[in-house]
Amino acid sequence: MKIGILAVQGDFEAHAAMLANLGVATVEVRTVEDLAGCDGLILPGGESTTQLQFLQEEGLYDAVKQFAADGGAIFGTCAGAILLAREVKNPGQASLGLLDMTVLRNAYGRQLASDVFFGPSKLTDVPIEMVFIRAPIIESAGSGVEVLAEYEGKPVLVQKGNVMAATFHPELTEDNTVHKHFLELAGPNRSTAPR
Ligand code: GLN
Repeated sequence: MKIGILAVQGDFEAHAAMLANLGVATVEVRTVEDLAGCDGLILPGGESTTQLQFLQEEGLYDAVKQFAADGGAIFGTCAGAILLAREVKNPGQASLGLLDMTVLRNAYGRQLASDVFFGPSKLTDVPIEMVFIRAPIIESAGSGVEVLAEYEGKPVLVQKGNVMAATFHPELTEDNTVHKHFLELAGPNRSTAPR
């Protein structure tokens, strides 16, 4: 299995380290060619405006949409979740629209990356670790979008088919639960059905 990580800016190296610990090969994605042959793609935290502009300029915007349509697994964290949303507010901007949800940017204010919170999830019996950094809030999600984890009663990890988004940063914690789940989506049994 090979997982691509969008490597423009933001914390792509933290995702690579997490996956290396899980024994998974990663490739830094900066071009359409880099994405070819990947089973999954991670859109990391950072600044979604900068990342969106890069995707559009490099032809990756269309390539990522095609990747998802072909059944490739995608996981967006924080800025990456913003890129995946159908609608982005505060301020508004274009997005890939691969997950039927509306997000409100910069909703949690500035928080130290060292603050670790815990919330319940469907992935494991114990609460999972969450770090929020100027995180978006998922204001609403379509009926087909499954909520996998919550924090203070609000969705923070959602999935539909092969696309998953977290408003927090699991890659900045010791907890690999969320990445392990993503690897299941990207694994050999992944759906190749058109979404
Ligand atoms: N607020 C940032 C944005 O809108 C996201 C913050 C993050 O990824 N930690 O892009």
